[in-house]
Amino acid sequence: MTALLDLLFPPRCPFCGALLEKSGPMACPACREALPGLSVPGLGRAGEYPCAVAFFYDGPVRTGVRALKFGRKAWRAEVFGRCIAQAAAEYLAGEFDAVTYVPVSWQRKLSRGFDQAQLLARSAAACWGVPAEPALRKIRHNRAQASLDDPARRAQNVRGVYAVPRPERVALRRFLLIDDVCTTGSTLASAAGALMEAGAAGVVCAALAGGHAPQEAEQSRQTQNFFEKAGQPLAKIGEP
Ligand SMILES: [Zn+2]
Repeated sequence: MTALLDLLFPPRCPFCGALLEKSGPMACPACREALPGLSVPGLGRAGEYPCAVAFFYDGPVRTGVRALKFGRKAWRAEVFGRCIAQAAAEYLAGEFDAVTYVPVSWQRKLSRGFDQAQLLARSAAACWGVPAEPALRKIRHNRAQASLDDPARRAQNVRGVYAVPRPERVALRRFLLIDDVCTTGSTLASAAGALMEAGAAGVVCAALAGGHAPQEAEQSRQTQNFFEKAGQPLAKIGEP
């Protein structure tokens, strides 16, 4: 049966899409070589909330995230969700007891056919044997954050776009809030703020990717928003 499935759905590298040897490692040799250099050595921030990310948003990780979002390749979410769970377990263990995600608008979900953050959160939550709870709703269809460069405009663009339809399901609970990418952190911070306003006891964040590897940092205008200094490891929680 496995052999037949491999023939119909040959295993592919979730990052670049290359065909893989069956029952081999989860990524192709080229991506496996690049990934250790892209692993994030610390914890970042989304506004006032700590944010664990698995990788820098560069190279094959960037390719993989774009394919997940725009290529209708939702199978990638399975592997990526496990990477997120690993990063959250490493940096945020003991700080959450429920898992949720930053939802796309219903219009976007309809046109895309899926909500990528929901798929990531389901896969991550499955690692702890819990469901990914749909605590948030996007109540306004705003411009894509990727179309805005200025951090202040990005923050403005996501202000008030998330709501908690059932506050009684959120009250006094501590959430791990998952998104695909943390760029300036304003999307995660806005969604986390909505959970806190609804009475959550705490929110910590996790994403597959955020910031840029030191050698890529000078090419990016957004790096300064996520790192203390360009090219430095992510800031630790609690540091001013
Ligand atoms: Zn690959």
